Amino acid sequence: MGELETNIQYLGGVGPKRAELLRRELGIETLSDLIHFYPHRYVDRSGLTPIARVRPELASVQIRARVVGRTLYGPSGSIVSQEDGGAIRFNACRRMSVTVEDESGRMEMVFFKGIKWNYGRLVPGKVFIFFGKPQEFNGRVNMVHPEVDIPADGHVTQSALTGVYPSTEKLRSSGVTGRVMNRLEASALSLCLPEIRETLPAYILERKGLVPLKTALWNIHFPKDQDALQKAMRRLKYEELFLLQLALLKHKYIRSRASKGIAMPKVGPDFHSCYDALPYRLTGAQQRVIKEIRADLMSGRQMNRLLQGDVGSGKTMVAVLSCLIAIGNGCQSCIMAPTEVLAQQHFANVRKYLAPTSVKAALLTGSTGQKDRREIHAGLEDGSIGLIVGTHALIEDNVVFRNLGLAVIDEQHRFGVDQRARLWAKNSTPPHILVMTATPIPRTLAMTLYGDLDVSVIDEMPPGRKPVKTICIGQNRKPAMFRFLREEIAKGRQVFIVYPLIYESEKLDLRNLQNGYDEIMRAFPLPDYKVAIVHGQQSNEEKQFNMEAFAAGRADILVSTTVIEVGVDVPNASVMVIESAQRFGLSQLHQLRGRVGRGAEESFCILVRDDRTSREARQRLDLMCATEDGFEIAEQDMRMRGPGDLEGTQQSGLPISLKIASLAKDGSLLAEARTDARRVLDDDPALDAPADRLLAEELRKGKYEIKDYSTIS
Ligand code: ADP
Ligand code: MG
Repeated sequence: MGELETNIQYLGGVGPKRAELLRRELGIETLSDLIHFYPHRYVDRSGLTPIARVRPELASVQIRARVVGRTLYGPSGSIVSQEDGGAIRFNACRRMSVTVEDESGRMEMVFFKGIKWNYGRLVPGKVFIFFGKPQEFNGRVNMVHPEVDIPADGHVTQSALTGVYPSTEKLRSSGVTGRVMNRLEASALSLCLPEIRETLPAYILERKGLVPLKTALWNIHFPKDQDALQKAMRRLKYEELFLLQLALLKHKYIRSRASKGIAMPKVGPDFHSCYDALPYRLTGAQQRVIKEIRADLMSGRQMNRLLQGDVGSGKTMVAVLSCLIAIGNGCQSCIMAPTEVLAQQHFANVRKYLAPTSVKAALLTGSTGQKDRREIHAGLEDGSIGLIVGTHALIEDNVVFRNLGLAVIDEQHRFGVDQRARLWAKNSTPPHILVMTATPIPRTLAMTLYGDLDVSVIDEMPPGRKPVKTICIGQNRKPAMFRFLREEIAKGRQVFIVYPLIYESEKLDLRNLQNGYDEIMRAFPLPDYKVAIVHGQQSNEEKQFNMEAFAAGRADILVSTTVIEVGVDVPNASVMVIESAQRFGLSQLHQLRGRVGRGAEESFCILVRDDRTSREARQRLDLMCATEDGFEIAEQDMRMRGPGDLEGTQQSGLPISLKIASLAKDGSLLAEARTDARRVLDDDPALDAPADRLLAEELRKGKYEIKDYSTIS
């Protein structure tokens, strides 16, 4: 076994205790893990800042100063000792303040820990280099727990750029400081570098002008200057993105050759009867997407297509027409929805669309009664049911299809991998799959997540949608908001009021909602106003009853948690109020907003933020007010929060973790990597040419497998 696999506890200065901590806190177990754990930023330590110029806004500063005095404080802020000699009871000390000065001025260095030790070395009269983040306290600038160095010959010794590693409070307090990390990395690198083998073929390094892996690894930790650092970063990011794309595309390539699908050469009469009876014309985007799907279904290869389209862009219609193509070729199809409410709504729509056809449709959910269930199971088995709409109930083992040709999955991010896999197993030849999502996924993320899916986009709204006027208000403006809502209701319009779902606590949710409901009831009393409420703890009948009351106009206001996020279509609703809006993801807010603006009236979305909303959160809300473009919102959301947090990926976590590249920031490098990966596979699809041996080896390690999607074929 080489050094790379050595446990870090054997590295000088680590030992079992710190090793355990590094494993728990940072996931570092071996020397290899350690050298692949990169700084998340670098500080330039070449310059000194005069004390007079130290400002709290500065990220970090380095000053050279003489200690002039030390003060020790006890628990209640009482002074324990002020340079008066005698024995000091350090146990009673809670804080030490060290006054330092240079030619330009004086400032305080504050210590809450390691007081005894720092007291011992920060002796008045001595000069030190202090490095840290300045902050303001009681109107004065100080530094808490600065790094302290002894200046050599009065100069700064460190290399200009010092890596700063992600760390945790636990690590710091057990002595694994930034400086310790730097030292550990240095010794791990000198042990391991001789063993590091290049991962990219020479022809790629040359073509892309990339530095060798060994150089990159050393320079990512210890760059001698910006240029060296940039080269190291580019090399490591490129490698990551390139291998990721290579793995995805290779998978896709294999699948497209291997997986035979059911050939569906015809369109069939039902498609035409439905199409001809549509009350509107399909948008250009809908037509284009249906053509794309038709081509897939005809090809004889299994379709795996992701259909993206903003809320209200008309995905349901596309789904139904696709199902009718399958039915026209003697197959059955299904539409699977994430919630009971949504399944019911789909079913209602589907029935309308299918009225002019001869297709029999049915609804199967968790609450379908025993008798109906038996009938539906029989109808699916003998093929008399052509189109089944349902929830997870559709993938239960006792559901047997005669010939399932197409499965449409709505709002895919709520489905787990296993559930999808079970769907694919419902037919001897795997059914075609159409996954629909209203969460617009930024292109860079889609390229990664769905590298092996084909993507269709409905980027055009049906005519007649009005822009939704969006504003963000604080709590103090709620009375004015209530007045506005009364005016809207007086005009005969309806209002949604949504409260956040607090995932951790159902009880808290309900209380939140109940408080909100009480407030609304006071502001909108009976008999002038009727308020309906819907939440996750109601029975299906209750939910259905209240939603229907609202949809039918029997209630003016619908108060709910996010259960309405995907669901009910109420064209008469003109206002969407979102309480504690800062708690929602932007994409989620966007989806909610999509619930209004469907009718002819002017529509509004009012984002109510809590009083203690952070500046970042306010900026995100401002973005909502500025644009209605779902893709732009998703893109910005990802930029602000990082892809792991993006709605739609947060439940499952991004199925792949990138060490250094960022999907939000390295979009163009990703596109480059994808083109290059495609070029490599065009020439050598199986990666068995000698020049590509390294690539084949890297992929075999499985690091770049996206687990979530590898089951698709
Ligand atoms: P999505 O599922 O993409 O959010 P839906 O399929 O529910 O959107 O469609 C939203 C609304 O737009 C529905 O009421 C639907 O009947 C209507 N609609 C769909 N396509 C068109 C079109 N081409 N022209 C006019 N209205 C349309
Ligand atoms: Mg929909």
